[in-house]
Amino acid sequence: MAASVTVNGRSYRTPEAPVVIVCVDGSEPGYVERAVEAGVAPFLGRVLKTGTAAVGDSVVPTFTNPNNLSIVTGAPPSVHGICGNYFLDPESGKEVMMNDAKFLRVDTIFKAFQDAGARIAVVTAKDKLRGLLGKGLTLAPGRACSFSSEKADKATLAENGIDGVLQLVGKPLPGVYSAELSEFVFAAGVKLMQRDRPDVMYLSTTDYIQHKHAPGTPVANAFYKMMDGYLAQLDAMGCVIALTADHGMNAKHDAEGKPDVIYLQDHFDAWLGAGMARVILPITDPYVVHHGALGSFATVYLPKSADAAAMIAKLKGLDGVEAALPRKEACRRFELPEDRMGDLVVVSTRHKVLGTAASRHDLSGLTEPLRSHGGISEQAVPILLNRKVAIAAGRRLRNFDVFDLALNAAAAVARNAA
Ligand SMILES: [Zn+2]
Repeated sequence: MAASVTVNGRSYRTPEAPVVIVCVDGSEPGYVERAVEAGVAPFLGRVLKTGTAAVGDSVVPTFTNPNNLSIVTGAPPSVHGICGNYFLDPESGKEVMMNDAKFLRVDTIFKAFQDAGARIAVVTAKDKLRGLLGKGLTLAPGRACSFSSEKADKATLAENGIDGVLQLVGKPLPGVYSAELSEFVFAAGVKLMQRDRPDVMYLSTTDYIQHKHAPGTPVANAFYKMMDGYLAQLDAMGCVIALTADHGMNAKHDAEGKPDVIYLQDHFDAWLGAGMARVILPITDPYVVHHGALGSFATVYLPKSADAAAMIAKLKGLDGVEAALPRKEACRRFELPEDRMGDLVVVSTRHKVLGTAASRHDLSGLTEPLRSHGGISEQAVPILLNRKVAIAAGRRLRNFDVFDLALNAAAAVARNAA
């Protein structure tokens, strides 16, 4: 194998020990620390003490897909193109999911390593990410596998490079809205490491628990206890483990526990006439039960006749709007692809969310007071490694630096010690 690979302008050293990158969906800083304080996460406790523990910035919009793709490409959405779960496709004029691999504009770090001869394993909770993460990989035994716990029972050699996943993991197929969906990811990771010892493994969970349970609460601590047990096994197998999150999470409800929503489409309908502007919520995906499609980031397509500056002034007058920016400025500030964003970008404050029209959100599935993400207020995420690495003073760490830290910085420390 070559000593390093270069992809999207960054070089990564070929791993000597297996590298496991973990993206814990919605893991706001504090979850790990509270679980460690409660005494239920001894491995993570060791990481905080003797490994590397930092806080970095995720990508805005602080949503799942843009950040997972940033982590696995080492680049912001302006480079890889995935800026939401959902967008208005300028080619078709239709609102579509951004799950299709055709929307990803660059190669992943996995592909670069596979081309160099490394073995790859990618396990996600929800199937929506699998196509994007696996783009360009040759999926076959001994080369790479890519599957989701959601559809673990349907994994085939042809589609996923692996079959018999339920038997391998020894667990039943988990429900899509459950903590077990994420547990299955870790359990599969341990079994794969025991059996195949891939060189690069990526484990990506779902934020079902984080949407409902704040750091330090019993259910959250139980989740991190579960995770801790599996990570300890990977650590014992000699893996270099780097853990980060796709975004944080905040309470988004009022004193009575009701979602605190700014219904943007209703405002624009009042300002410009019904249906003249189009509000797009990039949090939208087929799995909205736990957040009602309510997040803190929206993009708005205006009719040609509208005065963007006047609309921005009106938006800034709304209580709970943290930022209202024209496309160009928003894309420069948040490193987003201009051709996939609307005329305006709106971000709400820490405890508020943005909706389209009140009549379009089904909130009947919200069994707990709303917690959600999407805004600047959910940008901070943990960056943890089970190795102590040097981080230059003043360096702004991003969640998409974790491959660099795990492959380059950790290897440099090992070389110096040898
Ligand atoms: Zn997420």
